[in-house]
Amino acid sequence: MSSLRFNAVEEAFKKKALEVTAPSKFTSDYYGKYVFNSAAKAKYLSKDTLKALNNVINKGATLDIALANQIAAGMKLWATELGATHYTHWFQPLTDGTAEKHDSFIDYAGAPGEDIIEDFSGKLLAQQEPDASSFPNGGIRSTFEARGYTAWDPSSPAFVVDDTLVIPTIFFSYTGESLDLKAPLLKALAAVDKAAVEVCQLFDTNVKKVNANLGWEQEYFLIDEGLYATRPDLVLTGRTLMGHESAKNQQLEDHYFGAVPSRVAAYMKDLEFEGYKYGIPLKTRHNEVAPNQFELAPIFGECNLAVDQNLLVMSIMKKVARRHGFRLLLHEKPFAGINGSGKHNNWSLSTDTGVILYAPGKTAEENLQFITFIVTTLKAVHKHNALLKASIMTAQNAHRLGANEAPPAIISAFLGSQLTAILDKLENSTSEEAILIDDKKKLKLDIPHIPEVFLDNTDRNRTSPFAFTGNRFEFRAVGSSANCSSAMTALNTAVAAQLVEFKAEVDAKIAAGSSKEKAIFDVIKTYIKESKAIRFDGNGYSDEWKVEAAKRGLDCETSAPKIVEAYTSKSSIELFTKTGVLTEKELESRNEVKWETYTKKIQIESRVLGDLAINHIIPVATRYQSLLLDNVFKIKAVFDAEKAAKISAKDLALIEEIAERTAIIKENVDAMIEARKAANAIEHEDKKANAYHDVVLPYFDVIRYNIDKLELIVDDEIWTLPKYRELLFIR
Ligand code: ADP
Ligand code: MG
Repeated sequence: MSSLRFNAVEEAFKKKALEVTAPSKFTSDYYGKYVFNSAAKAKYLSKDTLKALNNVINKGATLDIALANQIAAGMKLWATELGATHYTHWFQPLTDGTAEKHDSFIDYAGAPGEDIIEDFSGKLLAQQEPDASSFPNGGIRSTFEARGYTAWDPSSPAFVVDDTLVIPTIFFSYTGESLDLKAPLLKALAAVDKAAVEVCQLFDTNVKKVNANLGWEQEYFLIDEGLYATRPDLVLTGRTLMGHESAKNQQLEDHYFGAVPSRVAAYMKDLEFEGYKYGIPLKTRHNEVAPNQFELAPIFGECNLAVDQNLLVMSIMKKVARRHGFRLLLHEKPFAGINGSGKHNNWSLSTDTGVILYAPGKTAEENLQFITFIVTTLKAVHKHNALLKASIMTAQNAHRLGANEAPPAIISAFLGSQLTAILDKLENSTSEEAILIDDKKKLKLDIPHIPEVFLDNTDRNRTSPFAFTGNRFEFRAVGSSANCSSAMTALNTAVAAQLVEFKAEVDAKIAAGSSKEKAIFDVIKTYIKESKAIRFDGNGYSDEWKVEAAKRGLDCETSAPKIVEAYTSKSSIELFTKTGVLTEKELESRNEVKWETYTKKIQIESRVLGDLAINHIIPVATRYQSLLLDNVFKIKAVFDAEKAAKISAKDLALIEEIAERTAIIKENVDAMIEARKAANAIEHEDKKANAYHDVVLPYFDVIRYNIDKLELIVDDEIWTLPKYRELLFIR
């Protein structure tokens, strides 16, 4: 009923911004109040317990049951005082998102039936056995051994949400294979820490730990809740499967630079207050390019924690949106024809001595180290460009990549003119020219001066999927709904392996009599040459780049199910097994899950599209057609044949167009259903996903095209689905 649409529009227009007040004048008064952070630990744990826990977190000491009991007791007391009555192990299954199973603290004090107490033992903190059979595992577990375990990750602090103590955990099978995204990330972070420390020691023996940092930028759309509810495609798939482009969308770029609309401004404030309670250092909020698109970014932090905070923020965002009468869209491409949403992953490595390894230094030694890390990263990204692409690929993100506002489905690295000049110079100099030792036996690097204001000076290239931005790389291809773990695991593992190789090559040269500086320089020079193909500073959106990238041997595959295959290529298996991050079996099972997820996503979309086409679009178009026919009949009754023909010409043309378009829609929906049936009969997940991509998906375009054309001709009064202009401009 179109009245539903008009009521929703009317109601949406009436909504006013909510009054939002800060919990306190100073953010520091309530920052992290729901997190079992160092302040809470200091208050609720004994000194010895705290020290032992820190040894577990920082030095990898084992957690024994006595220690776990003491921590659990302190944690429970802290959580209970905040109103918690339940606890949950919070984990990150292979499908994006998080999972949790809540249990109450209550237990019998003694024999069953006796008094009830609140209990939370170290055992419950450390390990749990959720019913794992309903989580995807890619064939690792058959149902008869469906046991899966969650185990506490002490490096990410527990927190309280409503009445529940939430404990971040990893999730693994009875046979020890990981079934989640956190465990491999932790392994990748350990690998890059170890490898980077060894390389840092070439420059500074004080370095004992290297952290990977992540600063994510979360893009999202907000849609009025009432309008959202009248779009079954949004509700069921997170994106619009149809809808003609609005006459005005982002062409004026007035949204990006404009003031935040008041209802949204209230939402953003509320969201920040909530985030601060969870110790999430939210810093930046602004409009994005597309209408009703916005962004939120914190100050960067340690990668594992930053990933957890992003997952938590995504769920807080959803909750707060509802409070303000909005629905949050995290889908990568909710609307065709305008920008989609990404989640830029700003990534760097930094030492416990306070050095960001991707920031140029002041001395020649520091700059040689800086260049070492830049070049090793380029080499890793070049070698594993197909894998990095696979790490960000999903059915949703496939719509965004290569559409005209996002990086193409080709990984390349942008360095900017200054850094390019430095690498070019190094590539073309001999070691004697580059490595100069002055009279005081200090290293002098003969490379172009690296100015201190480098950070602000770095050029921006919005079209690059992996861009150097002054003191970090920005992995921009990550999708807005993704768990950053996948991308961060692939990147940190690739860099870790390359750093190990770098160190070995330098050591070999030193052993053969080379000076340390010369050895480092020589390896750097080789890497610059070998990884040149990954460097691209031009327009990543252009068609020429696609041709050029193929010539350079970069992975140019665009089909999502095929891109995923890069996880089980020879080089990826070697990479993950050598670094101990994932076994071959785990890699294979993960791909099964990816294919299965891909199939399901397209299958659901295809069903929704078919239903809407048949139940909403065709009936509405036919109703309008019948009104037109009615009119033609009446004209005939009033006017003579010649005049009537003339007057009804435009009606007749519309009648025919509606007939043609509805016929095409019906034919294609039928054919799509047949294609789905054929695909569903395929046994292997990879072949099935490919069939969905190659055979089912192409029907979407032709069906949508004809629906969108109908939207333009059918009387607006009877069109039932809210239009793009309503979804995108009402807030
Ligand atoms: P822009 O939109 O210009 O890319 P933003 O300020 O929106 O930049 O986001 C930049 C993100 O990068 C922030 O989360 C910021 O904290 C993070 N960041 C800054 N420096 C580093 C670094 N060295 N390593 C990792 N992340 C960083
Ligand atoms: Mg950015």
